[in-house]
Amino acid sequence: MSKVKPPKRTKGAPNKHLHARTAFLYQAATYLTLQTNRSRLALELGSDLQQVSRKAQLHVSKEVKRSICKSCNSILIPGRTATQRIENASKGGRKPWADVLVVQCDLCGGKKRFPIGAKRQGKKCDREALKKQAEKERESCLETDVSGTSRSDPSLAGTDVGSVTA
Ligand SMILES: [Zn+2]
Repeated sequence: MSKVKPPKRTKGAPNKHLHARTAFLYQAATYLTLQTNRSRLALELGSDLQQVSRKAQLHVSKEVKRSICKSCNSILIPGRTATQRIENASKGGRKPWADVLVVQCDLCGGKKRFPIGAKRQGKKCDREALKKQAEKERESCLETDVSGTSRSDPSLAGTDVGSVTA
């Protein structure tokens, strides 16, 4: 009876070679984009980067993800290959939390929109913990209120009745 043992986990992060590959692809694509204007090879490297990270389900950092155009895979560098502006669709731009950073790709015109004025909503577990805490605080407040308040003044009710009859 021999049981097949699961393979031992190697030290360090799994898929290390894939992380190294995506890092190289990103650096090479950025370099080519900075050196040459509208390099076809840079687009191919960007496309390879997307494919490798999707196939291996790698976690790509937010900065990297935000600097690659979703439609044409070019590296978005503000002032070189992309234009940045801030939009505010609220009436007269009165709501500062409605600020949206729009990054437009100069090559294909694709847009990326990031809300920057609004505070990011916390994780669900954090929100629930906060809600529970608030409820607990409210309950403790109510308990002190009940013990602290006196009965309503009967004289007030009397004056009210009197005004109605007069
Ligand atoms: Zn693009």
